[in-house]
Amino acid sequence: MQVYADNAATTKVSQTAIDALLPCLTDKYGNPSSIHGFGQAAAREMENAREIIAQCLNAEPREITFTSGGSEADNQALLSAAAAGEKKGKKHIISTAFEHHAILHTLDKLKKQGFRIELLPVYPEGIVHLEDVEKAIGDDTALVSIMYANNEIGTIQPIAEIGALCKERGVLFHTDAVQAAGHLSIDVKAQSIDMLSLSGHKFHAPKGSGVLYVRSGAVPLINVIEGGAQERGKRAGTENIPGIAAMAAALKESCDNMEINTAKVSAMRDRLIRGLEQIPESVLNGHRTNRLPGNVNFCFKGIEGESLLLMLDRAGIAASSGSACTSGSLDPSHVLLSIGLAHEVAHGSLRLSVSEYNTEEEIDHILATVPEVVGRLRSMSPVWESMQKGK
Ligand SMILES: *Cc1c(COP(=O)(O)O)cnc(C)c1O
Repeated sequence: MQVYADNAATTKVSQTAIDALLPCLTDKYGNPSSIHGFGQAAAREMENAREIIAQCLNAEPREITFTSGGSEADNQALLSAAAAGEKKGKKHIISTAFEHHAILHTLDKLKKQGFRIELLPVYPEGIVHLEDVEKAIGDDTALVSIMYANNEIGTIQPIAEIGALCKERGVLFHTDAVQAAGHLSIDVKAQSIDMLSLSGHKFHAPKGSGVLYVRSGAVPLINVIEGGAQERGKRAGTENIPGIAAMAAALKESCDNMEINTAKVSAMRDRLIRGLEQIPESVLNGHRTNRLPGNVNFCFKGIEGESLLLMLDRAGIAASSGSACTSGSLDPSHVLLSIGLAHEVAHGSLRLSVSEYNTEEEIDHILATVPEVVGRLRSMSPVWESMQKGK
């Protein structure tokens, strides 16, 4: 049995997305900047997609800018807010310690340019406290950027409350909603979101398409990529029409089916949590219920996450130790460290992220395999042995 349980890293492309994509390869292959019919047909595809995506977010089409994905949207959001802040002498940015590296590394760059970066704690349950945001906001705050849901431990942040606070204090608010889009309901107006990033491949569209939403009049975008006048001059490069059309179709499909998918996926998540917490010396990371419907994240003391992943792969289970971007490095995840886990515990992490394409039989297979593999690894682990002796 082959079980794909790494949907937080990327997802299978849905048939709906493929059906939207194919005509853009075979018929509507024009360049949307071209005057002729081929170009205009492609341009219509793109504007149709923009409208669909805007509707899913309760935004306006003109507030949607297409990017190459979540990372580019995050970079452009932060760099734009920083540039606007700098003009007004505001060089303070508030974010959190467990953001995606697309945010954290851009903040590092801004720090070198003289911005004061304040990373709020997320506490053992992996949730930002509103009071901390409130206390951190000052007269020189240019931006608050807090992710909607964490990509490793799945915890969901109080976005509407943070949005309302930022609105009241006149501070720009950006959220990296890459893990949330298509999985949790988003309403940029009701949640007072000024800027939002999303990425198609996290909700069953192909890789390489994303969106930066910017509320009209919130902040002028600066170009991360220079060149042509695409996307109102804010993002050069011939648009990825097949990817954009597929992303819109996939987002609409996910939003239309959100209730039914959430019920199915969160039931599988909760079965996994209940089953895996039976393993001795296991710790569930993140909040038990306030987490993405498909996210499960555990640490198993005394073992190495990487060895666990290799053995699970041999048993047909595709999982992750956390972020796909940090796999291959031996540093423990910054997310797990941010919720206060010790280095040696954070090393033994396992993230299972399920989707509506998983089945109950696949969950059975995971629940039968993981305890057995953890037991086998522990029986070979000197760390586990000394932990047991120390008791
Ligand atoms: C995947 C992910 C990104 C990056 O998106 P890409 O489209 O892969 O560049 C950014 N933020 C979060 C929270 C993610 O999960």
